[in-house]
This record gives sequence, C-alpha cells and structure tokens, in this order.
Amino acid sequence: MTQDQVLKLSEKFPKLFTPFVEETNETLKDVHRITNGIRQLIKLCGDDPDRDGLQETPFRVPKAFLEYTEGYQEDPRLHLEKTFDIHHKGLIIIKDIEFYSMCEHHFAPFYGVAHVGYIPNEKITGLSKIARMVDGYAKRFQVQERLTTQIAAAMDEILEPEGTMVVIEVKHMCMCSRGAKKSDASTTTTSIRGVFENQSDLRAEFLSLLKS
Ligand SMILES: [Zn+2]
Repeated sequence: MTQDQVLKLSEKFPKLFTPFVEETNETLKDVHRITNGIRQLIKLCGDDPDRDGLQETPFRVPKAFLEYTEGYQEDPRLHLEKTFDIHHKGLIIIKDIEFYSMCEHHFAPFYGVAHVGYIPNEKITGLSKIARMVDGYAKRFQVQERLTTQIAAAMDEILEPEGTMVVIEVKHMCMCSRGAKKSDASTTTTSIRGVFENQSDLRAEFLSLLKS
C-alpha cells in the first residue's frame, strides 16, 4: 500500500478502526487486502465495484464488521459483577432482551430476543447489566446454541444462583434469504442449570411468565 493510498483511506474514513483496534500501518495494510477481496467478491457476484453506489462499499464492510463483532473487545461476564444485597428468593425474569448477532457459518445476521431467568442465592444484579452481558456475547461470530450456553454460564459463574434458565428465540437471515428460504421459521434454544434441571414446576412457571 503506497503512502498516497494510506492518506486517501485515512481521509475518507477517519477513525476507521477506533475504538475497536489501533490504527497502524499494519492494520491499514490489512484493510487494503480486505477491500481488494471485497472488490473481487462484488465482481464474482456479477456487479461492477467501480460503479457509483459500490465504490466505497469495500471500506464500509470492514468498518461495519468491527461494529458487528465489538463484543470481542470485552469480557461480558464483568457486567454482572456489580451486585446488590437484596434478600429475594423467588424467580427473576428479564424478558425480551433484543439482540443482533452474526452467524459464523455464513456471516449473515441473526436476531431475536433472549429471556433470562434466575433464582438468586445472595447476589442480584441490575436488569440492564444482564442485557449488556447478552449483547457482549451476541456481538461476535456466533451460533445460537453457543450464545445460549454462554449467557447461562455467565449467570451461573458470576451470580452463583440457585438456578438459571435461558430461552432464546431467533430468526436466521441465512435461513430466510438463502438455502432453505423459510422466512417464517424461527429457532428456539434453551439452557437450564441448577434447580431448573430437576424441578419441572419451576420451568413451567418460567414459561408461563414468558407468555404473560
Ligand atoms: Zn448461517
């Protein structure tokens, strides 16, 4: 990459990487390689990378990817570490936590809602902290099953509750717009830990609260 090209790139996309990665000569070279690859991809799909609407796309794509995957920049479990001493022994459910993630097999978005329930032992965390933790795992290259497990594991590890139950409902763009092309299909996954594992009445309470 010539100095001229680096300058042009920096002018056009100031702060291309920040706050995600440091903008160095080396990362600028990487972006140059990526942009060339995306130009090739546009050609392979049958379009002209030099036409008006597509000229800047090869730069926008890596920038967007750094945002889609900004969860790599943090340890999502840390959000849960701010806890309160509240004596509450019942079920706590945070419903409909909206998230957007990226299917690691097709780099296509998948999105939906997470429902996180737990029965605290001594530690209770803020509702927004749980939503931030979900986001931290969602904004990575993911599969729905791993996302579900990671959320439940983080709850278990940091809050040490009596039990945790996580339900995730998702629409996969890679299923809607390609492959099987089933636009109405949604996938539900669950992860169950602690007292939820052997108490079916607790699982039933959780699921009935989701419907209400
Ligand atoms: Zn996929």
